[in-house]
Amino acid sequence: MTTATAQPLPHVGITLNLTRDAKACAMCGVAVEHPVDRVDVNVGVRWHRLPGGNASDRAPRSLVVTFSRCEACAVRRQHAEALVELYPRVAAAQGARDVAALRFEAVLAVGDLLRAPISLDGAVSGNVSAVASARELALLLERVLAPALALPFSRDAEARQGIAGASPWAHVGPELRTAARDGLAAWLRARIAKPSSPVALPVPEGAEVLGCALCGVGTATAWRRFNVNPRPLGGSTRARALAAVACPVCADAIDRYGVGRTALAAALLAHAGVRRLGGVDDLEADLLAFAALPIGTPPNATPFEGADFDALRRDAARLGVTA
Ligand SMILES: [Zn+2]
Ligand SMILES: [Zn+2]
Repeated sequence: MTTATAQPLPHVGITLNLTRDAKACAMCGVAVEHPVDRVDVNVGVRWHRLPGGNASDRAPRSLVVTFSRCEACAVRRQHAEALVELYPRVAAAQGARDVAALRFEAVLAVGDLLRAPISLDGAVSGNVSAVASARELALLLERVLAPALALPFSRDAEARQGIAGASPWAHVGPELRTAARDGLAAWLRARIAKPSSPVALPVPEGAEVLGCALCGVGTATAWRRFNVNPRPLGGSTRARALAAVACPVCADAIDRYGVGRTALAAALLAHAGVRRLGGVDDLEADLLAFAALPIGTPPNATPFEGADFDALRRDAARLGVTA
């Protein structure tokens, strides 16, 4: 352990001198009367002149400064321990268990410093600042660990022995606050930008055709509503158009070619991953659009379920319509 230097602290808020039976909170620095928790910080070896000896006659003595934890910081410590249990792999990446707990404690403290408490479960609290996954915890460490490790009051243990802050985090100077704020903001942005798989939506209420009108898929990330006359799609003549929906790929084909067999062929190729080089006016798929099937037909699990996409790609390649 490095020895503390005699340099002045970069910032000192209002401090109190502690009475004998009080200790400072190792994290936020407030005075804790009748402390329960004991946090010993070994500052290093100090050489003491022996009584009665001459100037070169010195004996080593290790200096330990004792802190405690206030109630709020004790609760946060428990949360940190819980995170070690919840996310053992993230913890292991930080090193030994107590190192991980210390680091988790420090990053959670950033939230309290900035009055934006970080909870452990976003689902329960609806809190925007919640660590609810291993990824979020790893991101939090990535963004705020550096300033977080500089936060604890006990960090300058020797200079701070016998004193306490007048209020929580009073010892944290403006530069460190800015670094912590920037880190937390970056974390919040990173969380929002997280890659989540698009939500698969079922066919909306009111649609008479139970899957995409062309490919028949039953779930999609978005739906376009339209009315479709099944006849141009190979269905029988009906008295009226049906309320239908289209998945994004098929909606795109309908936008280009209108509802009909050309759109159906274009949608089939698009779902098969075939990139068309020319027009598709001459293409006609030998299959029925889903909307042309009897009403009540259950939707497909995948677009054009049952279609031989491999054969289609081979045919397309042969025709010079490359995949
Ligand atoms: Zn505290
Ligand atoms: Zn579709």
